[in-house]
Amino acid sequence: MRSIFDKLDAEKTKDIRVLRDFVAVYCRENHKNASSALFAMPGAETAMGTKEIRLCADCSKLLSHGIAKRLRCPYDPKPVCRKCKTHCYAPGYREKMRGVMKFSGMYLVRHGRLDLLLHYLK
Ligand SMILES: [Zn+2]
Repeated sequence: MRSIFDKLDAEKTKDIRVLRDFVAVYCRENHKNASSALFAMPGAETAMGTKEIRLCADCSKLLSHGIAKRLRCPYDPKPVCRKCKTHCYAPGYREKMRGVMKFSGMYLVRHGRLDLLLHYLK
C-alpha cells in the first residue's frame, strides 16, 4: 500500500524531527502535570526515528497536525513557513506552533544549546 509517507526525503525527515523535539521540549516545560503518553503517529515512524517522546493530549494533536502538514507540503524546496503564501495549518494550530517554536528556541539558547539550535536551523 502506497501512502504519502513513502515519499519521505531527508529534508522532510529533518523538519519532522525538529518539530518532534521542539514540541517535546515545550510540553515537558509547560505541561508538566498533564498526563502524558508516548507519542506515536502511525505511518510516520521512519520520519520520527527511534527517539521516544511523551506528550500531553493537546501537544500530541499539535505535533500530529504539524507532521501531516509537513508531509503534504506541495512546495519543493519548501519556503520558510513564515514567508509562505499558503497557510496550511488549521485555525489555532498555526499560532500554537509558533509559540512552541519560539519557546523551545529560547529554551535551547538559555540552556546553552545554541549548537543544537543552529543544527536545526541549517
Ligand atoms: Zn503538552
